[in-house]
Amino acid sequence: MSDPLDDLASALAAIVGDRHVLTDPDQRAGYETDWTGRFHGAARLVVRPASTDEVAAVVAICAQHGAAIVPQGGNTGLVGASVPRNGEVVLSTTRLTRCDPVDTTSGQVTVGAGLTLAVVRDHARSAGFDLAVDFAARDSATIGGAVATNAGGSRVVRFSTMRAQVAGVQAVMANGTIVGSLSGLPKETIGLHLPSLLSGSEGTLAIITAVRLRLVPWYRSTATALVALDSLAEAVRVLPQFRQSLPHLDSVELVMPSAMRLVCAHLGQACPVDATAGAYLLVECAAHGDPLDDLVQALLQHTPHSSSAVATDHVMRSHLLALRDNITVAINHIGVPLKLDVAVPLDALAATATDIESIVARLAPLASLVIFGHLAEGNLHVNILDAGPAASALTDAVLQLVIDRGGAISAEHGIGVAKTQWLVAQRGSAEISLMRSVKHALDPDTLFNPGVLLA
Ligand SMILES: Cc1cc2nc3c(=O)[nH]c(=O)nc-3n(C[C@H](O)[C@H](O)[C@H](O)COP(=O)(O)OP(=O)(O)OC[C@H]3O[C@@H](n4cnc5c(N)ncnc54)[C@H](O)[C@@H]3O)c2cc1C
Repeated sequence: MSDPLDDLASALAAIVGDRHVLTDPDQRAGYETDWTGRFHGAARLVVRPASTDEVAAVVAICAQHGAAIVPQGGNTGLVGASVPRNGEVVLSTTRLTRCDPVDTTSGQVTVGAGLTLAVVRDHARSAGFDLAVDFAARDSATIGGAVATNAGGSRVVRFSTMRAQVAGVQAVMANGTIVGSLSGLPKETIGLHLPSLLSGSEGTLAIITAVRLRLVPWYRSTATALVALDSLAEAVRVLPQFRQSLPHLDSVELVMPSAMRLVCAHLGQACPVDATAGAYLLVECAAHGDPLDDLVQALLQHTPHSSSAVATDHVMRSHLLALRDNITVAINHIGVPLKLDVAVPLDALAATATDIESIVARLAPLASLVIFGHLAEGNLHVNILDAGPAASALTDAVLQLVIDRGGAISAEHGIGVAKTQWLVAQRGSAEISLMRSVKHALDPDTLFNPGVLLA
């Protein structure tokens, strides 16, 4: 039985309808724990508005009641920023499903923030275009969440991150006003750029309700190969050669041996290439014409002694891509990991991975380390299982190492609540103070996502 609606719930129900204000603990549960199971908190209630106007009205009512809001899209975020921490209202964007026809003249589309990446990708493809950003959580992660986290994924080597795909946003500010433009003009120098401000803001400055997206051509022909290399240093060495000789290079995903063993066991299959390699690259090219010859040529030329598996049909391609797509799932299947998504300059990548292994061996000898990532951006997803009480010391040591190497303590997942205390070491007190000023100017009462990004 749900409790009788309190004043706030009644006021919100008058806007979105009773069915979309969830006060019952069973109904709220799915919104209260993050994808990893590491972050959890009770929500005062969950509200699911279906339009920008409804979001604006919900925000105004919450502000009147002094009820802080956690914006939530697909709840696939990995840094604890999408779930409540202290009895906040969870504002789910999943009913913001506007889907305008693809504008083939501009190569853009306007969509609601709650549509998933997969839905928008399929919509774009129906008009011969494609969504530039792709990653394994595509069936749940939303466009709004991807903008709010400046998501990356596998195609950044070719098309950059989500920030670069945003031609316009519509958003609701903490005072309930609706701002932004969805005109998508490629050129406009008319003051501060709202899409840039909100990309990567992790739900702390505004609630994004709709996005004007730049699309890319849909390259229907793909060539995919898994290459076994001696070491991560070798992988870094071949990267510029692949970049130069493969004009249609679409992704260069890194899988370290521990991740390969884990995902193969999870999928119940043998490693398709040399199982004793020191690093694996999943390389994909995509083009209008078949890029297979180019890829095979590049492999023969730049990795002549390596064992590789080249997909010659869609079934084999799916098998190879499944190896990369299922690593995160395979890790979570074993336990709740300490996740550190970091990036360093490429010339420091191999040494950083080696140093991380030493750190884990020293601070948590019984823990298991699983590393994979996006090679071209020097992005390592460091997953430590069974970190136990060493979790904080491990985080300290790894993030300090990354900062010392000139890297980023978050490459694509964001700061969330997981890394707030390390942000000052990365950005310095002057920049933290600047960010606080912006936050205070836009959200003086800390209505949006308290505790996230700036603790
Ligand atoms: C299996 C798996 C693989 C992944 N792979 C990648 C990867 O390769 N690259 C990558 O970048 N990420 C990856 N992620 C992380 C995650 O999918 C992304 O961060 C994604 O962009 C989050 O989208 P979401 O809709 O789930 O957002 P949520 O998890 O719901 O929210 C994430 C953040 O965005 C805010 N937010 C959500 N919607 C809005 C909105 N409309 N307005 C304002 N703020 C909002 C939330 O408050 C929170 O701070 C992966 C996750 C999983 C589970």
